[in-house]
Amino acid sequence: MTPLTRRSFLKLATLTFAGAAGALAADPVKTALAGESTEARAWFSAPKGSRRIALTFDDGYVNVSHLLDAALAAGVRLTLFPTGKVILANPQLWRRAVDEGHEIGCHTFSHAALGALTYDGVVAELAQWRSVARDQLGLVQPRFLRPPYGDGWNAEAVQRAAKAQGFKIVMWNRVNTMKQRATAPTSVDVLNSFVDEAQAGDIVLYHFHWQEVAAFPAIVAHARAQGWKVTTVGELLNPRPTAQARLTSATRP
Ligand SMILES: [Zn+2]
Repeated sequence: MTPLTRRSFLKLATLTFAGAAGALAADPVKTALAGESTEARAWFSAPKGSRRIALTFDDGYVNVSHLLDAALAAGVRLTLFPTGKVILANPQLWRRAVDEGHEIGCHTFSHAALGALTYDGVVAELAQWRSVARDQLGLVQPRFLRPPYGDGWNAEAVQRAAKAQGFKIVMWNRVNTMKQRATAPTSVDVLNSFVDEAQAGDIVLYHFHWQEVAAFPAIVAHARAQGWKVTTVGELLNPRPTAQARLTSATRP
C-alpha cells in the first residue's frame, strides 16, 4: 500500500472544508491507499511487497504478562495499544513491555469512541494518554494511535488532533475470526483463522484473549514458516526505524 501524498491529502482536506465531502465518502480504505508518499491518512497494512507482518494487541485488560512471556520466548516484538487507564492500573507491567522492546501505541485514555468527540475532546483523550505514557513509562514520542473500535479514523477532527499530537493513525486489515468459527472458540480457532487468512504485509488485530495468547507461539511459527518476519508496526512501515524514544532513568520523573 502507498499512502496519500501530502499535496493530495491537503487537496482532499480542502475539498472537505469546501463541503465536497463526497470525495471522502468513497471507500475509506481506497482513500488511504491512493497516492504515493509517506503521509497516509491511516495505515491498514504494510507498503506493497512487504514480507513482514505486525501482530497488534488492543486494550490490555487481561493476560498481558502471559502474552509478554510468550513474545519473549518466541523472540518477537509486538505493538501493543493499551488505554491510559490500563497503564495506570499496572504501570510496572507496561514498563516491562517497554523494557522488552515492545512498541506502545495510544488507544486513548478512556477507550473513547473518537468519532463522536469534538476536536478538543479528541485532543484531551490523546494528550491525557501521552502524559500517562510519559510519566509512567518514560515514553516521549509515541508514534501511533489506534482509535478504539476503529471509530472516527477518517473524521477530520480526529485526523487533525492525531497530527497535532504527533500520532500516525494505525488501523488493521486482518482480524481474529475465532468467534465466527466457533461458539466457544479455542486457540485452535485462532490459529486456523491466522493460517487461512493472514498474508504478508498484514496488520493483524488481537485483544489479549486467552485463546490468542495460547495460539501465539503457533502463529509466530506459521508466520516464520511462510518466510514472514513478525515485527512492530514501526518496523512494518519503516524497515529501519529509530528506537522508541524514552526518557533515561536520570531524566525520568
Ligand atoms: Zn479497544
